Amino acid sequence: MMENAENTSEKKSLNFIEVIVENDLKEGINDKKIQTRFPPEPNGYLHIGHAKAICIDFGLAKKYGGICNLRFDDTNPVKEDVEYVDSIMEDIKWLGFDWENVFYASDYFTQLWDFAVKLIKEGKAYIDEQSAEEIAKQKGTPTQAGVNSPYRDRPIEENLDLFEKMRIGELEEGSAVLRAKIDMASSNMHFRDPIIYRIVKHPHHRTGTTWQAYPMYDFAHGQSDYFEGVTHSICTLEFVPHRPLYDWFIDQLATDSYRPHQYEFNRLNLTYTVMSKRKLLQLVKENLVSGWDDPRMPTICGYRRRGYTPESIRNFIDKIGYTKVDGLIDVALLEYSVREDLNKKATRVSAVIDPIKLIITNYQEDKTESLTAQNNPEDENAGSHEVMFSRELFIERDDFMEDAPKKYFRLTPGQEVRLKNAYIVKCTGCKKNDDGEVVEVYAEYDPLTKSGMSESSRKVKGTIHWVSCNDAIDMTVRLYDRLFNVEDTLEDKDRDFREMMNPDSLKTLKNCKIEPFVKTAKPLDSFQFQRIGYFNVDPDSSESELIFNRTVSLKDSWAKEKNK
Ligand code: ATP
Ligand code: MG
Repeated sequence: MMENAENTSEKKSLNFIEVIVENDLKEGINDKKIQTRFPPEPNGYLHIGHAKAICIDFGLAKKYGGICNLRFDDTNPVKEDVEYVDSIMEDIKWLGFDWENVFYASDYFTQLWDFAVKLIKEGKAYIDEQSAEEIAKQKGTPTQAGVNSPYRDRPIEENLDLFEKMRIGELEEGSAVLRAKIDMASSNMHFRDPIIYRIVKHPHHRTGTTWQAYPMYDFAHGQSDYFEGVTHSICTLEFVPHRPLYDWFIDQLATDSYRPHQYEFNRLNLTYTVMSKRKLLQLVKENLVSGWDDPRMPTICGYRRRGYTPESIRNFIDKIGYTKVDGLIDVALLEYSVREDLNKKATRVSAVIDPIKLIITNYQEDKTESLTAQNNPEDENAGSHEVMFSRELFIERDDFMEDAPKKYFRLTPGQEVRLKNAYIVKCTGCKKNDDGEVVEVYAEYDPLTKSGMSESSRKVKGTIHWVSCNDAIDMTVRLYDRLFNVEDTLEDKDRDFREMMNPDSLKTLKNCKIEPFVKTAKPLDSFQFQRIGYFNVDPDSSESELIFNRTVSLKDSWAKEKNK
């Protein structure tokens, strides 16, 4: 996986959908104008799986000079809400895409209704008053034909009358459905008189109570594509068996030769992640996370808050590509992508998350020195900033060890290390409290080893970071780990996904220290904490508490752990 990831500069070949589009364009389809759509149901926030759909839907339109519309598939009023509509728009824009038009499936309720009436009048649809269980029982199996409903041949007038009663709320939920009359013996189960309308007595976020009967997905999706002029309707593989029905409805509806076509790609599944909106909603509702934008969530807003960049997500999607086989992608590849992007962009700062004092005993007590720290060695235009050096510094607790093993190149009595951007110091000892815990570390510096001085070429094996005690500001750090500790959360279907949660997915560290350079940082600004990882300012930060989220550690400590 990681090997693939590193070969990204090679010119990529077309994915199979791009091949189809290029062929269609060559053949002059639709006056050489392709049209796609991104069709989210506004029943939750977008997740990283949706990003995969967004990148192909909007990406194709961008690449081939076509149009991509945003269409809200709002045919189930019980679960849908404007909160979701707004968040979806925000997240698409943040990912770097824009739509030509915003449409709603509910825009077509009248057209869809008229089409259903046409089917009834042609004897191709009927009202079934059996219960859902009864209908399911008659469906048969793939190897055994289904049984016709006793209502299948009721008179057209009766169907029309009942259909109207469904719409105006005269019939109770579950008491009647409209079914297309196709073939109860078809080898494709979706053709066995599919339900196309059901009664839902719940106000709709756009149409209120005008409609009390709503079209099913299969009856709304393809037709909406058709009404809008979509050429390439791209969705995920589970819709492959729906495609013949998609085509059948449009054949009933079409008045000319134009047809939208459905194409399917493999949905994104990630290790240690649940992706279904239903489960994500459950996590939010049951307060198992702090909200849709909890930085541990696989939602777009969660990644944004966590410090992921739009580029890192798009690059990740590009690396995994589009195929016709479902699989499970290692979340380490996503982490690799954000590391790769932030490495180019994030300003390096010094921060100590588990502080202990280091006292430079031969450094003048009241002296402070301004030293230069490069903002980003990966970017020569990034400039530099000042850091203050003084006698008392904070260093990481684990950068000192009293009895150290041979390969420990940090502070241990008698050993030298370089303090990043400053001097070489030699450890002289430490002070412990009554419990034997180290409370202070001592060292002496060599004034001739200041970074940048010509004499400073003396090499030592280790470099550690530090912040000056006088200048350091306090911060809270939130360290995130995987929300689930099961690699494939879909594997064991009988196990409740909540039992797979990692109890240690959030660790909060208070009184961490950071250089004052970050004082002016705004929420979501990203930094590299040298030697630790990438962190960004959490929007929960206030005047009294500066809070940083760990986006990702510098190295993939998880992979190392696993390979032990
Ligand atoms: P979920 O199963 O998470 O509820 P959904 O498919 O119901 O998702 P929609 O809002 O209907 O969510 O999806 C909008 C578009 O995003 C669809 O075209 C759908 O195929 C696509 N999509 C959803 N999940 C994924 C995924 N994991 N990988 C790729 N595309 C996805
Ligand atoms: Mg859906």
